[in-house]
Amino acid sequence: MRSHSSIAATALMLLGVRAAVSSESDEAALTDMTSECTPYSYAPVAAAESQFPPIWTPVSAMVSKSDAGYAKFISINASIPNIAPKGVLGVPDQTIVSGYNPADPDCWWTVTQCVTPKVSGVKGDIAAAPEPRTLGYGFDDGPNCSHNAFYDYLTEKNQKATMFYIGSNVLDWPLQAQRAVADGHEICVHTWSHRSMTAFTNEQAFGELWYAMQAIKLVTGVTPTCWRPPLGDVDDRIRYIAQQLGLQNILWKYNSNDWAVNTTGITEATVQGNYDALIAAVGAGTFDTTGAIMLTHELNNYTMQTALDNYPKLAAAFDHIVPVGVSLNKTQPYVETNYTLPSFDAYNAARASGGSSSASSGSPAASGGSGSKSGSAAGNQATGGTSAGFVLQVSTLTLGLVVLGAALAL
Ligand SMILES: [Zn+2]
Repeated sequence: MRSHSSIAATALMLLGVRAAVSSESDEAALTDMTSECTPYSYAPVAAAESQFPPIWTPVSAMVSKSDAGYAKFISINASIPNIAPKGVLGVPDQTIVSGYNPADPDCWWTVTQCVTPKVSGVKGDIAAAPEPRTLGYGFDDGPNCSHNAFYDYLTEKNQKATMFYIGSNVLDWPLQAQRAVADGHEICVHTWSHRSMTAFTNEQAFGELWYAMQAIKLVTGVTPTCWRPPLGDVDDRIRYIAQQLGLQNILWKYNSNDWAVNTTGITEATVQGNYDALIAAVGAGTFDTTGAIMLTHELNNYTMQTALDNYPKLAAAFDHIVPVGVSLNKTQPYVETNYTLPSFDAYNAARASGGSSSASSGSPAASGGSGSKSGSAAGNQATGGTSAGFVLQVSTLTLGLVVLGAALAL
């Protein structure tokens, strides 16, 4: 609850710094995107800033050479498959891409969509929900600051999903990240800075995963055991590094291309066509043996609205729509054992009976979300570049400090 006077709150809003919305439930109750996307300070994040690389910056090296992360990296480094980075600091080298051996010795998904590793001991990717006529439902690139209407809709439908969160977004919008856990969604890792993973050195790639995991743990209290590479860019070297961090790699076989609207000829009609094709494939029996995973995003207003518009059609076509982890019967989705997801059968039985299919958890506290129906997902906050980063701690009691903090945060 807002605990300060409305005048002070109004002044803070005008300054672009919000007072007193300091809990997940307060944040989840906001209904306009300007409020949702107003930067705020969150003390645990501010206090931990020095332990992380700069947000939205590709990890150039581990921050500390004397902590658990670096020790873990050193413990695995010698056993990482000897495959050269395919670019520099997360940026692909097009010469390497175009000159890559067509025999695909690295099982490089970007070029061949290979999901079965060539290096022994490396685990394969998940690119489809194993259960028949089932959609493994997930969204990349969150948390988006203005996702309340979208998450409200999912709550209203008693629908859980897998959220592939970017570490930098989690530290920008920690209360939004907490909502995923409070609502019973599954959180997976989508790296620290959202670059091409095969274009990092071993240490950098490790750091991109490590710091995203630490950000999610810091903010939500849980440590994911699944991840998705940005752009699907993964090879056996990167798979091995993720595997050593306990992360199962989740890819897709169907791509909505929702993220690419207004680039290289992709239009909203293209995206709707991709959704329609997936739905038609269900009717044609394509998923009668093995289900589907489609790439979709929490990236912006358009991608969230499109997901929301298509949900009734997907729900009518598929027998089951479940988080990816539920389709895998992965009842312990996190390192922490006090949190469970229902099995596939239990999830569906709960939905069929009209009961809750919620995950159970000791913390954080359940959302006070309204579940209110909304026709449009508010907001258009793209990931990267536009968000405030580590907003300075602001005293809401001292106007002078507030003004100073606002000036520095903008
Ligand atoms: Zn992404």
